[in-house]
Amino acid sequence: MYHDLPQAASFWSFLFAVDQDLAETARKKACLCGGRLHRANYLRKPRGTPDQLPEPQCLRLSFCCDRDGCRKRVTPPSVRFLGPKVYLGAIVILISAMRQGATPRRVRELSARFGADRRTIARCQVFWREHCPQTPFWKIAHARLTPVVKIVSLPYSLVDAFLRRHPPDVGWTRLLRFLSPITITGGLKIEVPQ
Ligand SMILES: [Zn+2]
Repeated sequence: MYHDLPQAASFWSFLFAVDQDLAETARKKACLCGGRLHRANYLRKPRGTPDQLPEPQCLRLSFCCDRDGCRKRVTPPSVRFLGPKVYLGAIVILISAMRQGATPRRVRELSARFGADRRTIARCQVFWREHCPQTPFWKIAHARLTPVVKIVSLPYSLVDAFLRRHPPDVGWTRLLRFLSPITITGGLKIEVPQ
């Protein structure tokens, strides 16, 4: 039903632009010690993207405090990176949603499209069933979703909630924005879908 990600390069560069905004907000807040935040990005090589992303779009934006004795790392929320590290968030969602009711044929299809083997698919499932429901973000967020999304049907029910009423690029962007607080430890910022 919603098994396809927007293919346009503009969608992926838009997600990157959202991450840059989130990063800029974090940078302006500075470190808790008062130190200034300097760029200290990670280079990731995410798999399974519709086309190979240009290298800058593979960066997980992050910062490091410039004050001696602190040097704390600050990593802002992301609409692109979620859960298992080598996949982009959208792909983790898609793999897991497609896994539901998986047949051997479907597992083969997932492998062909995303380079995801059985173990990766299982890891994505664990993310949704075990990691995600334990986050402070989810404990607050899920109560505010209408209709209430059941953990057992994650993430399919989430995809459905966001994509039912919007064109794919808008729906995916809203879903990824909604989930972005999960990507940071203790993230609590919530944006409820319209
Ligand atoms: Zn600091």
